[in-house]
Amino acid sequence: MTTTSIQPKQEIVLTGDRTTGKLHLGHYVGSLKSRVQLQQQYETYIMLADVQALTTHFHNPGLLSQSVRQVALDYLSVGIDPECATIFVQSMVPEIAELTIFYSMFVTVSSLRHNPTVKHEAQERGYEDLYYGFLGYPVSQAADITFCKASLVPAGEDQIPHIEQTRKIVRRFNELYAPVLVEPQILVGERLDGLDGDSKMSKSLGNAICLDASTEDVQTQIRRAKTDPGRIHKTDPGHPEVCTIYGYHCIFRKEGSAEIRENCMKGTIGCAACKAMITEAIEDVLEPIRERRELYKYRPKDIDDMLMAGTAKARKVARQTMKEVREAMGMNYF
Ligand code: ATP
Ligand code: MG
Repeated sequence: MTTTSIQPKQEIVLTGDRTTGKLHLGHYVGSLKSRVQLQQQYETYIMLADVQALTTHFHNPGLLSQSVRQVALDYLSVGIDPECATIFVQSMVPEIAELTIFYSMFVTVSSLRHNPTVKHEAQERGYEDLYYGFLGYPVSQAADITFCKASLVPAGEDQIPHIEQTRKIVRRFNELYAPVLVEPQILVGERLDGLDGDSKMSKSLGNAICLDASTEDVQTQIRRAKTDPGRIHKTDPGHPEVCTIYGYHCIFRKEGSAEIRENCMKGTIGCAACKAMITEAIEDVLEPIRERRELYKYRPKDIDDMLMAGTAKARKVARQTMKEVREAMGMNYF
């Protein structure tokens, strides 16, 4: 798998989020932060992945429609600028579904079954038998990325196998028919663990600090977060490598993390003091996000207009790619 650093050249960026609830700090460090930087230099598409959300939440479409506007508000709050980035709704670009069907003809079931992220998520959700849509979501993701010929995808590490799958699909399509599609690369962001310390911070696992959390919410959540279970007293030597809060220090207070590590191992700093420091660092990240949210929170009509304009633009690009795909396959009959 190829990873890449940010290069100032004319590339197309695509990324997105499932509309399964509000965004959280994991999204921020894994992907949102780099999107905000990239939008100035690259043609950027950001997708509200409501179809991908359906693969696990088909029983609750109400949550998905409510989350579309919620996630859009999160985007604006972190500093995504609709003047630079095209924000669109996945289900409203039907060419993506069309491409998914075409690609699915040459993707084997075993390659999907062996995808480590699919396997892990299926296990996490307790799926014994896999839904067809869930098993196939990496194929749909390939369509999301290729419809706009994106060459760069800023995403968390769980997305690495999916981007690899997309690259295979692109190579196969271009070999079989004509070189129409672009092979993307991933720009991997940092991974943030959940407050429970058991898995990555995730909307669906209830272990997240949301980007709209109040100061009180952050204090309470950090106070309850899991630390080194073997450390009972403040003076006990700690094991930072098993502590969720130490992981947060490495991300939100990089410059001070070595000192924390040393003091924790020596038993000269207690968990309460360590948590107070990380709470402050997280507050520094959230405060400007809260301020921007206030500007957009009471303007739902503007958010809808933005989504309609972004979706219309994405659709135009998707129609053109679909035309080229059909031509390459000799299927543009009339
Ligand atoms: P769900 O539980 O519904 O799958 P999620 O919290 O996993 O939601 P996604 O919408 O699946 O979020 O992920 C969107 C993007 O954010 C992806 O690029 C993913 O890699 C990244 N991301 C999500 N959670 C984290 C995390 N904890 N740390 C780093 N990146 C993350
Ligand atoms: Mg996810």
